[in-house]
Amino acid sequence: KTVLGIETSCDDTGCAIVNSDGVLQGDALYSQNELHVRYGGVNPLVAYELHRNNIELAVNEALEKASINIENVDAVAVTTKPGMLINLQVGVKYAKYLARISGKPLIPIHHMEAHALAARMYEEIPFPFIVLLISGGHCLLALVQDVDDFLLLGKSLDNPPGEIMDKVARRLKLKNIPEYAKVAGGRAIELAAKKSKNMDLFEFPLPLVRFRDCNFSFSGLKDSAIRKLVKKESEHRVKGDEIIPEVYDLCASFQYAIAEHLAHRTERAIAFCEKKNMIPATNRNIVVSGGVACNDFIFKAIQVIGTKMGYRIFRPPPKLCTDNGIMIAWNGIEKMKKNCNLVKDISFKDIDPLAPLGKSYIDEVV
Ligand code: ATP
Ligand code: FE
Repeated sequence: KTVLGIETSCDDTGCAIVNSDGVLQGDALYSQNELHVRYGGVNPLVAYELHRNNIELAVNEALEKASINIENVDAVAVTTKPGMLINLQVGVKYAKYLARISGKPLIPIHHMEAHALAARMYEEIPFPFIVLLISGGHCLLALVQDVDDFLLLGKSLDNPPGEIMDKVARRLKLKNIPEYAKVAGGRAIELAAKKSKNMDLFEFPLPLVRFRDCNFSFSGLKDSAIRKLVKKESEHRVKGDEIIPEVYDLCASFQYAIAEHLAHRTERAIAFCEKKNMIPATNRNIVVSGGVACNDFIFKAIQVIGTKMGYRIFRPPPKLCTDNGIMIAWNGIEKMKKNCNLVKDISFKDIDPLAPLGKSYIDEVV
């Protein structure tokens, strides 16, 4: 079987064709990241215009690379939730058109489920497994029990980690350093942190240490980073585009604090699942995905905790951590194998911008 997947939930227009063996046959990605670095954030109307301009190009490019026509695929999978409404509509509308002209079924996809399952395209990871999803829009810990069965263990009570890294990168004016001008905020912080000679220069308190649940909080770290920056800016009397001399150390300490918090909460999730016997001893696996999972320092911090507790840690290749059409097509394949979610049509009413991930188990986690 072969599935064509379409992704337009945020600022990337992605399309890919994947088969049942997990072989990528062709893909295309029109990313607006560079543009947003310039504007300082995702502008929904700009994103919408670009999705509309790029969707046909992306689909045709993916089909061309796979050397097939739409008639040769078995189904069209498309992200219907969560995400920005008008952007999701662009993808759904085009998927409906493709289904109509080819007579193929549609498969509605949950964007975060697709992030969670992407690693299974390359590695045999049996259900259940723990997943940590960290991106610009989300921070979730869940137990993946099956392709269509997720148990939400914890989430961010305020901002997601990618968002605070983007905000702090912007406030630090990292894009004025040519090497970082074109990369996402989180990536800029990772690269800058590598140049630090003293990552203990700034101290950040670990959030939610007193709570035994699996929730996250990042707004305190963001505020603290900005306070430290403002203090240094006034000490050095920096003006306009000038950057504080401690920029690399601040990035390193800030990134360390984020990694420590993520690792600490993941440790809580493991302890909870073990206590409840939710994970068989043979399946001690954790998947980390989402754009922030591209960060090697953060990934290693989680790896250290996981390994200590006897778990194997997986993450998809970087191209599959950030938003893309491949994970949508692969989720379509996984759903097809299970015979779930194949539909003749998708109504705009089925689009759900705020859809949560799975059944909430958050109140049970203490
Ligand atoms: P979602 O809707 O899934 O929440 P998103 O629009 O944030 O998604 P992603 O592409 O999954 O999309 O993630 C983008 C985020 O990942 C941005 O906040 C970016 O700064 C962050 N990011 C990318 N690379 C890195 C990195 N190396 N280190 C830390 N953060 C990174
Ligand atoms: Fe995403």
